[in-house]
Amino acid sequence: MKTSHLIGLSRHRIGVDGTGVTTLVAFHGCPLRCKYCLNPQALSLRGVWKRLTPEELYNYVKQDDLYFRATSGGVTFGGGEPLLSCREILHLHKICRDKGHDWRITIETSLNVPKVFVEALYGIVHHWIVDIKDMNPEIYKAYTGEDNRQVIENLQLLIDRKAKITVRVPLIPSFNTEADVDNSIAIL
Ligand code: SF4
Repeated sequence: MKTSHLIGLSRHRIGVDGTGVTTLVAFHGCPLRCKYCLNPQALSLRGVWKRLTPEELYNYVKQDDLYFRATSGGVTFGGGEPLLSCREILHLHKICRDKGHDWRITIETSLNVPKVFVEALYGIVHHWIVDIKDMNPEIYKAYTGEDNRQVIENLQLLIDRKAKITVRVPLIPSFNTEADVDNSIAIL
């Protein structure tokens, strides 16, 4: 059985990454190399903190079933880049559904992954929180080492399907300016 490679688990989060009380499940692995990465363990080969089967992960998150139901909260998948672990997320979701849980699912993502990963999870995710970095391809490349064409395509796909999306547009010292942030917002 495929295990989830994690860099962290965090319970009882309120108002940080989704509505209600949430549990953050943070996956190892990311296609980007942001210069100010907040979770460098997600990029390091030795950064895996824990490996859990889908059943073990379910047993962990279900501890807060009562909180999730009382606050319309649920599970937030982050990382790293959680969309790289879409198979593990789908497996966990199937277990939750079979057990009768309908927790809210939030994804924190850069969207810089093949479209097929977004499509695989589209049907189960309630809220997409997208870290867009900057819409200017040159700034994006300088900061992450990658280009942002796939990001734009995936964002357009989610918009077309009327997904609930929150886009974060950060000010990145030495890489963009407030004018660049305004420009990204205008493009968005
Ligand atoms: S997307 Fe997040 S985890 Fe990946 S390199 Fe950038 S800051 Fe780090």
